[in-house]
Amino acid sequence: MIVVMKRSASEEDIQAMIEHVEALKMKPVVLRGTERTVIAAIGEERFAGAGSLESGPGVDEVLPILAPYKLASRELRAEPTVVKAGSLTVGGANIGVIAGPCSVENEEQICATARGVKAAGATALRGGAFKPRTSPYSFQGLKEEGLKLLAEAREQTGLAIVTEVVAPDDVELVSEYADVLQIGARNMQNYRLLECAGKSTRPVLLKRGPSATVDEWLLAAEYILDAGNPNVMLCERGIRTFEAHTRFTLPLASVPYVQQKTHLPIVIDPSHGTGHTNLVTAMARAAIAAGADGVIVEVHPNPDKAMSDGYQSLNLPQFQEMMRQCGRIAEAMDRELG
Ligand code: PEP
Ligand code: MN
Repeated sequence: MIVVMKRSASEEDIQAMIEHVEALKMKPVVLRGTERTVIAAIGEERFAGAGSLESGPGVDEVLPILAPYKLASRELRAEPTVVKAGSLTVGGANIGVIAGPCSVENEEQICATARGVKAAGATALRGGAFKPRTSPYSFQGLKEEGLKLLAEAREQTGLAIVTEVVAPDDVELVSEYADVLQIGARNMQNYRLLECAGKSTRPVLLKRGPSATVDEWLLAAEYILDAGNPNVMLCERGIRTFEAHTRFTLPLASVPYVQQKTHLPIVIDPSHGTGHTNLVTAMARAAIAAGADGVIVEVHPNPDKAMSDGYQSLNLPQFQEMMRQCGRIAEAMDRELG
């Protein structure tokens, strides 16, 4: 429920409405605009009498939030959310570019990649230290040692670090090193992890599960918002379909759909979304043309030697060329990479 207060509503009226909402066993979220204040009543709506809210002092109107996700919905907040983390800005006029290897492998690999992607115009460095792998026998990441190497790369380049956290117990540790917590596709519905990330002060990049609907994905974002973290970026990384020519199917219609339904920014991952190096640049261009607020791209100085996802990674010259092409599309969209 959204309670729109009158312009003339006093601070006492607002306070009374907050208490009224709490008495209905719902959580009040107060949004103070320049013109007027809006109080969202979040929770199980079937118990709440809209009538009783309407008759509160200073209330202009009470509207239902139709979407199943409340805090994430555009109905609640009309203006788009812009997420900032150090050198990274995602949303508004800025298209964030997060680039780097699938996994952090060693100091030379991560620092050389960081320098290379920064020189090409990337605004954040990605790299997995904790890797969720399909097979337990595949490389699982360098864990804390990998986080330290990412911090070293940030030291050298100033790039914000985006890295994955796979378990609730690791949120604190990863938050010490990371600027952005990535929640991977396999963990999109790990509700304990979402809650813990929601309690962190770090922005979160929430990947879509390969078999999750958009509503399930947005409800996963709602867990993070509801736990108190407003800085959520959605990441479309492709879904599983019958098509086998690409690793996943990358639905770019997610971009305008999500932007219509929520105020959260959306980042496209053309690397996991296609699974083939030679398809990545075209889909990065298409993502920006569709209105994406950011891209996250796997880049490795020597993809043939990568310990994970080399077949979908760009090398540094390929990334430079991707940036050149994407810069032109961004300009056509009245936006800028960076
Ligand atoms: C990754 O970013 O390397 C990764 C594991 O992605 P996803 O969770 O989308 O599979
Ligand atoms: Mn990967």
